[in-house]
Amino acid sequence: MNPLYRLLPSVDKILSTPQGELLIDRFGHSAVVNQLRSLLQQARLHIQQQQQLPRYFSDFSVLYKKLSHDLQLQRQVAIKKVHNLTGTVLHTNLGRALWGEAAQQAALAAMRENVALEFDLQQGKRSHRDNFISELLAQLCGAQAACIVNNNAAAVLLLLATFASGKEVIISRGELIEIGGAFRIPDIMQQAGCKLVEVGTTNRTCLADYRHNITENTALLMKVHCSNYQICGFTASVAEAELAQLARQHGLPLISDLGSGALLDLSRYGLPAEPTPQKMLADGVDLVSFSGDKLLGGPQAGIIVGSKALIDRLQQHPLKRVLRCDKVILAGLEATLRDYLFADTLTTTNPTLRLLTQNLDELQQVAELLLQKLQEKLSADYQLQIESSSAQIGSGSQPLHRIPSLAVTLQPHSGKNEELMQLIRSLKQLSQPIIGRIEQQKLWLDLRSVANPQQLLTILDEL
Ligand SMILES: *Cc1c(COP(=O)(O)O)cnc(C)c1O
Repeated sequence: MNPLYRLLPSVDKILSTPQGELLIDRFGHSAVVNQLRSLLQQARLHIQQQQQLPRYFSDFSVLYKKLSHDLQLQRQVAIKKVHNLTGTVLHTNLGRALWGEAAQQAALAAMRENVALEFDLQQGKRSHRDNFISELLAQLCGAQAACIVNNNAAAVLLLLATFASGKEVIISRGELIEIGGAFRIPDIMQQAGCKLVEVGTTNRTCLADYRHNITENTALLMKVHCSNYQICGFTASVAEAELAQLARQHGLPLISDLGSGALLDLSRYGLPAEPTPQKMLADGVDLVSFSGDKLLGGPQAGIIVGSKALIDRLQQHPLKRVLRCDKVILAGLEATLRDYLFADTLTTTNPTLRLLTQNLDELQQVAELLLQKLQEKLSADYQLQIESSSAQIGSGSQPLHRIPSLAVTLQPHSGKNEELMQLIRSLKQLSQPIIGRIEQQKLWLDLRSVANPQQLLTILDEL
């Protein structure tokens, strides 16, 4: 046996030193012992492979520093804050919508205190956790009732499982979409135990296609908003109002998966119009589902609104219990929706709408400060510039629409890709990493999606 192994100290010996006791005071006995054991294990491997003692075991003071550092790291949450300079405002990989101030406060209160979640304070008896939001959505989009679940994918699953398990669902071929993250409408149908009846063609579907396929096994008609792709050219689809009439003639419900769910007409901000749930309901759709953390700008949630009788059936399905939201999300969602009661201030209160509607003058100011700061640090190796850029909403909303934006671009003087990669790495190593996008061999730091410009500028002191 290699004599080096015998030089490794015992756990007890290390812990009984004053520095060992300090570590135990700080982190507790069991965490220190676990960490130490794993270090000893690594050291044995090191000896086996390198025939020498690792440095941290030849010098005890280094060992204590390493232990303390490693234990400290374990306290750090791995889901780190980042600065989003991708130019995609609702970036799924970066956590989609940010919560407004009121939503954050409501969520904090729900975390720290007991809340009357399923308790009616006036009547002094049990109530339902979706009630507050149901009442708000009645005001905001004219829905009779609402049902809230974990996300919109869950909403679609619950809708299909409740109304169409073992039966047929008619949907246009052009609407059999895949959203990122393996959400495919045909797969969800299968999970819910429905039989998919696809009608029409990829580019054109007409009312007769639906009508001819209605049988005694049909459970419902379904529309899906093609949020993340567009078909152009020789196309046709059936409007909700028309389809609703057909559904009513046959006594079938019509449901619509809206995806983004903008609660107000975005064209008032110069953004492309998205269909709203209130328009869908007014057109006669029975149930509409949409996400909480896309254009609505709130917590991750799936929101289903529509007829009271149908919502009651959703609420009674066992899957609803599986997919329901917790108090923190419900509090955040309620506060987000309350901001919509004050529509004129939404571009201040709702971070998503604030970012999407910032004007270029505001962005120019931040761009200049950012350029200046980066120039101090990087101008020796990189060419820096403010350029017009194209931002986007993200999360599959209006994929072809570009929002005018500004970016600071960085290009290595050497033109070497390796140097660009080095820059990206160092921006990722900041205590709050900066994430940009690469285009035309440059790094683009797009200002449209930056939530906190002040913190962004401060973090660059670390470079
Ligand atoms: C985004 C989207 C979904 C999935 O919503 P999540 O809230 O991400 O689960 C479903 N359908 C459509 C049309 C979408 O755009």
